[in-house]
Amino acid sequence: MAWRTRFAPAPTGYLHLGHVLNAIHVWGIARAHGGEVLLRIEDHDRSRCRGEYETALREDLDWLGFVPDLGYQPPAITAHNDTPSPYRQSDNAARYTAALAALTAQDLTYVCTCTRRDVARAAPHPSGAEPRYPGTCRQAHHPESATRARRVRMAHGTEIFEDRYRGMVQQTPAEQCGDVLVRDRHGHWTYQFAVVVDDMAHDIDVVIRGDDLLDSTGRQLRLAALLGRERPITWWHHPLIMHPDGRKLSKAYHDTSIRERRAAGTPAAALLGEAAWRGGLLPEARDLTIDELPALFAAGR
Ligand code: GLU
Repeated sequence: MAWRTRFAPAPTGYLHLGHVLNAIHVWGIARAHGGEVLLRIEDHDRSRCRGEYETALREDLDWLGFVPDLGYQPPAITAHNDTPSPYRQSDNAARYTAALAALTAQDLTYVCTCTRRDVARAAPHPSGAEPRYPGTCRQAHHPESATRARRVRMAHGTEIFEDRYRGMVQQTPAEQCGDVLVRDRHGHWTYQFAVVVDDMAHDIDVVIRGDDLLDSTGRQLRLAALLGRERPITWWHHPLIMHPDGRKLSKAYHDTSIRERRAAGTPAAALLGEAAWRGGLLPEARDLTIDELPALFAAGR
């Protein structure tokens, strides 16, 4: 049976070159080593996700030649964003509710009334660094009705995992982030929780993503263990495309989207080649076709 990985974009903007680099890793590694690719729409953040971005990302993937083996259906098959899908997070609240209930049954969750500002104030941290939740509400026993926000207790201890790019990694979630927020006060499921529940529900064996998410891996492993995950995960955290000034590409900075490049006449093969080169997979920029991706990952990696 083939192992399974996933491409899991959030439709909060148009795809940019950084997404293309991630897709190159995901499809390239899967095609080189006998894996299948599942497409999942990670629209857990209802305040930032838009249907038009979801439609656009499906079209852009199609145009670039990234065809998923399963999961979210490409636009030619599912025409409407309002068709519910097990592979779109906003359609799967019941799955997250059940997972939260499983943790609550083990007495691992609590009601948290802290705002972001409360957390920042209680746990001063350098700008850009991650705030650690200091556990303010841990023993407060707020009633369920106080707010929809829930946290999961992170016991002390070290998570150790092997990353195919980074080698052995050790993380201590209780010290890094403290108790993990799984649902916010608006009732939105958080990235950290939804991704763990979905990777279990979708039988994901291999996670291939940018190394900006490396710090999240220990807490995700911990959450998965609390939820009873037994299937091991192989991790690949690849380097990102950076700007010369050191910041990463981002929708928030209006980095040029794939759609704009496409509208300006750039061919798909040129964009694939540019992403692979800027991500360190090619010694220089050149046209690269989808069929060539496995060769980038064939040897040893
Ligand atoms: N949805 C996340 C993103 O767009 C990726 C999730 C993951 O790969 O774990 O950054």
